[in-house]
Amino acid sequence: MAAVCGTHRSDCNPFTGHSTVEFECVEPTDLIVIHSSQLLGDENFPAKVLVDIAHRVGPKSASGGYNRAIIAKIHYLSEKTLITKLAAQKSPLQYNGVKVSIFADQPTEVYQQRKKFQDVRKRCRDAGLLSGFVGTWQTRLRVTVEGATKYFEDPEAAGGFLDDKLGEVSAPDITSDWLEPATQYLVVELKGKLTTGQRYQLYTEFTGELSDDLAGLYLSEYEEDGVRRVVITSQMHPTYARKTFPCFDEPALKAVFHITLIHSPGTIALSNGLEAEVVNTTIDEVAVTRTRFEPTERMSTYLLAIIVSDYAHLSSKEGDILIRIWARRKAIEEGQGDYALNLTGPILDFFQQYYNTSYPLSKSDQIALPDFYYGAMENWGLVTYRETNLLYDPLTSSNRNKETTATIIAHELAHMWFGNLVTLRWWNEVWLNEGFASYVSYLGADKAEPQWNVKDLIVLDDVQKVFAVDALASSHPLSSKEEDIVLPHHISAQFDTISYSKGAAVLRMLSDFLSEPVFVQGLKSYLNHFAYGNTAGTDLWDHLQMAVDANNGTVTLPAGVNDIMKGWVFQMGFPVVTIDTSTGALSQRHFLLDPEPNVSYNNTWLIPIRWMKPGEVQGDTWLMEKSGVNSEMKSGGDWVLANINVTGYYRVNYDLGNWERLLTQLNTDHQVVPVINRAQLVDDAFNLARASLLHTTLALRTTLYLEGETQYMPWQSALNNMHYYYRMLDRTEVYGPLQDYMKKLVTPLFLYFKNETSEWTQVPPGHTDQYNQVNAIDMACKTGVAECQTLTTTWFKQWMDTHHNTIHPNLRSSVYCRAMAAGGEAEWKFGWDQFKNATLASEASKLMHALACTNDTQLLKRYLSYTLEPNMIRRQDATSVIVSIAGNREGQDLAWDFVRTNWEYMFTYYGKDSFNFANLISGVTERFSTEAELQQLKAFEEENGDFGSATLALTQAYERTTANINWLQENKQDILDWFNKQNIQNSSPETSYGSCSVSWTLSTV
Ligand SMILES: [Zn+2]
Repeated sequence: MAAVCGTHRSDCNPFTGHSTVEFECVEPTDLIVIHSSQLLGDENFPAKVLVDIAHRVGPKSASGGYNRAIIAKIHYLSEKTLITKLAAQKSPLQYNGVKVSIFADQPTEVYQQRKKFQDVRKRCRDAGLLSGFVGTWQTRLRVTVEGATKYFEDPEAAGGFLDDKLGEVSAPDITSDWLEPATQYLVVELKGKLTTGQRYQLYTEFTGELSDDLAGLYLSEYEEDGVRRVVITSQMHPTYARKTFPCFDEPALKAVFHITLIHSPGTIALSNGLEAEVVNTTIDEVAVTRTRFEPTERMSTYLLAIIVSDYAHLSSKEGDILIRIWARRKAIEEGQGDYALNLTGPILDFFQQYYNTSYPLSKSDQIALPDFYYGAMENWGLVTYRETNLLYDPLTSSNRNKETTATIIAHELAHMWFGNLVTLRWWNEVWLNEGFASYVSYLGADKAEPQWNVKDLIVLDDVQKVFAVDALASSHPLSSKEEDIVLPHHISAQFDTISYSKGAAVLRMLSDFLSEPVFVQGLKSYLNHFAYGNTAGTDLWDHLQMAVDANNGTVTLPAGVNDIMKGWVFQMGFPVVTIDTSTGALSQRHFLLDPEPNVSYNNTWLIPIRWMKPGEVQGDTWLMEKSGVNSEMKSGGDWVLANINVTGYYRVNYDLGNWERLLTQLNTDHQVVPVINRAQLVDDAFNLARASLLHTTLALRTTLYLEGETQYMPWQSALNNMHYYYRMLDRTEVYGPLQDYMKKLVTPLFLYFKNETSEWTQVPPGHTDQYNQVNAIDMACKTGVAECQTLTTTWFKQWMDTHHNTIHPNLRSSVYCRAMAAGGEAEWKFGWDQFKNATLASEASKLMHALACTNDTQLLKRYLSYTLEPNMIRRQDATSVIVSIAGNREGQDLAWDFVRTNWEYMFTYYGKDSFNFANLISGVTERFSTEAELQQLKAFEEENGDFGSATLALTQAYERTTANINWLQENKQDILDWFNKQNIQNSSPETSYGSCSVSWTLSTV
């Protein structure tokens, strides 16, 4: 390996370490394969790698061939027990006993005195503290690159774990080693075969780069009181543990990890286990602290975490569990961790009861990081978060921030059992892990904040959201074939909306038709049976079936759990159920947004249907075939409404007569229809219309009743759908009439909240009412309601004048955005300064998005350029800023041009997996609706062959663009006519076609 210190910096921030792995040979082999990626070696410090026996036995292949079947032949050992075959998943597979010791110097010093660090590293190595292994241990497999065997002089540093009670057989010498870059394998070839039944220890030493790439062990920076500080932190999931130390980096290869960190005195080291021993010592006259952690439980590598910081923390106890919240000192001092601390105990307690299983660890650490690619990561016992997701400040955070914190904490803590204690054996079933945590996160948050009704919101935030993606022909089933998910970018691509949101929706449906008591009974039995082990999805169905059988009679299902779930898991998409209330006939078909896809799908599902007539929920029924009849649904003059509370993962269409009756009901007394179903009627109608199953004007008519609606869910549903109209139409002549119609609709809501809040001086009491107040202000300002514009600009101007921000936290996102849209460079610069100086991450995030709302194209260009400068826009936020700019009518073309121009740079410089390219592609192409844009997309694909994890997003962009072009052709005129008709009926002298910014300027200048 060449002496290259990565591409991100001109100099190196190395970390070094060594690890020892024990395993047992079960079948003779002369190849050892271990995962290793981006670990560096140089002539002074050669990277030495060994470990595992492997996923690949056979001659070196040019293609980097991968044969998972071979894994089945490999066995590992625990400290005392021989573990059964990997293929026999009933027993937990482990190469128990991995000792990892990593030396990462005090972050600030590393940063400021890199030279010194390198000297320290050299001295440590010379002193034998960081490297070497005992050659006299006969059975130890020795691997050296240059044949230079080193010896441990410090057994403590080498790991007390390495006992010498090994067998009598010598390990064969190593003849060669090579990397298989595609699979990130390091293959070690031996002179002779390992002997069956013998235990071996493999020793590795390694050097890696502490980069700012948010993967593996990496650097995160922040400023406190003018001082730049650095956190060394980790992100192992899904395939970056191998970038931290060579390891068997697969979820099914569980082991106990003994971790030691060597770091500078004054810093705190954290890992999965509790700190067992913290020793201040010296290495060649340099003071260091060595923190040794308690051994972990048996666990997968992707759940490991290693952090060195000078953070402060809060702590409490829930029973015997130590709970700690870690963050920047200032954030802790300001009380930003208090909410998380108060929430964690009750949520852990809820899950202990829900799963009927104790929390498996002795401590629960949660830490907020300045730079973090994902929202949060469920490392076992040391959960990492973006600051925005863990920290909450009652004075400056909104209720949405609060809900985000509650649901994300609940999501991550849910994984402590489901995912961590019991782990899916391969990444093709990510959906079950993520879908499950997403579903129960609502239950956990509901327990912590019962007055929120947060459980209902899954319908908006997951079900309706994922319907939009899953209705595309380019969607995919929840489960993929194991053999199709092989390379790291295949694995990354699994973490999409389908996995999270469809997974959550389908599991919610399952829990509903099983009933919650039966669902949790099966769940508990599954967790107990597979604790510390691995599973396939069908294992859960088996245990749920056992629970159904045990509750003979309480639940009647038309088929076994496995048979019911098959259709939802292995078929892509979802059904639309059509009910003809004149005959009682029901039918199902695969719902696709594009009515003429190239491929025809003949999917059928076993569909649970809960339905009602006016005032009365009827008995549940199932649609088992393509069509069926339920004579009860032949309704006479009454309406029929199906999929009550949208517990089922499907849309519903009706005969026109029933639609008319439902519309009449909405317009006369909408309260008779449950609130979630009011949201459903709007969302289903709009989407059925997009798929040409219903006329567009009928969908538009579902919004008419909103003039009398004040509830959040129907409004949000309508706004989500109107968002599509804005995207498609805001660059056409329909924009003005659309704005007028929306203004007419939202004005009563604006006035309602004005009244409810005593002229905006109070906060509406209900959680979702607070959300809808934001909708009211946002839409009223956007559509040019003068009173709204005056209100928001006055608030913002006060802040600029006095530097004292009195805008209520709930309203800030909206007010900031409107002020940017209306203002010019002065507002933008003020916003930028506030963004850079914000001490609370969620406040910074609001400003960051608002900065994209400006209509000044020069400012938008400048802002785009900042996304390539990590000191201006953190890398974790770059995608989000570009997508926000693309969401602005003025920014669309700029953002697309920017992405095309800089694609190669971003793609190669940031790495295929670290930048969120899938979101970037779908974000910047969301508005595409012309033939010219379709051609640009094609040209873009031809110019850049490899799209890595964004490959699917690109296919979806094609499909969406084509569908948009067709939709506009078919619907634009009808929509224009319909809006014009509504607007004439309700014409008002104030009506103006001006955009928000124009009206605002007039009203304030
Ligand atoms: Zn998760």
